[in-house]
Amino acid sequence: MNQYALETLYRSLDELAPCEREAGEYPNFEDCFREVLDVISLEQPDWAAQVQPLRAASRPQLERWLKELLDGEEIASGDLTQFAVEQTLRRYWKQEGRELEEGPESDVCPVCGARADVAYLDKDGFRYAVCSRCDSHWQVSRILCLRCGEKDAAQLEYYPYENGYRLYHCKTCDGLLPAVDLREASKLDLAKLRAAAAEMQLLFEEGQVEES
Ligand SMILES: [Zn+2]
Ligand SMILES: [Zn+2]
Repeated sequence: MNQYALETLYRSLDELAPCEREAGEYPNFEDCFREVLDVISLEQPDWAAQVQPLRAASRPQLERWLKELLDGEEIASGDLTQFAVEQTLRRYWKQEGRELEEGPESDVCPVCGARADVAYLDKDGFRYAVCSRCDSHWQVSRILCLRCGEKDAAQLEYYPYENGYRLYHCKTCDGLLPAVDLREASKLDLAKLRAAAAEMQLLFEEGQVEES
């Protein structure tokens, strides 16, 4: 498979113009949010019926969702709301994404405070975490769960997928971390990696994976 189901969606969202933060605030959040909804409806017509009510969200409602996300909570209104708000936040942060010379041995991004959602192994086999919000990346140990700090190799497993994509799983905290090995994939393509990540996580949840 060369194209993953959500790849075009992630790519189109990444192509949206950045939104500007001001003094730690997120001005014009409603406009930036609605543009994200437009892209989601266009690229995922199946989701349009769920997207429609989000268009009517009031400013206080949007501010509540934004606060929940910034506080690291799950948005009670559901996965699609969470996805749309997070994708809107990405527009305010993506220009700050950078390759860090040093970073923590965890999944918490030192630039924006969000968590890494994916990782990659470089051509030399070193592993890097990638922030879900600003795309900054920093090197992390390979035998380590970034979520709970587990270092016992017996508790850490990974499931190989196709084309160098793989899913790390920690048996201690049940944390998942999708990744790509750049010794097998030609280049780092974050839209593709996130689309593959969604598929790998779904297969894992359905039990359709074999440990390496
Ligand atoms: Zn970040
Ligand atoms: Zn863990």
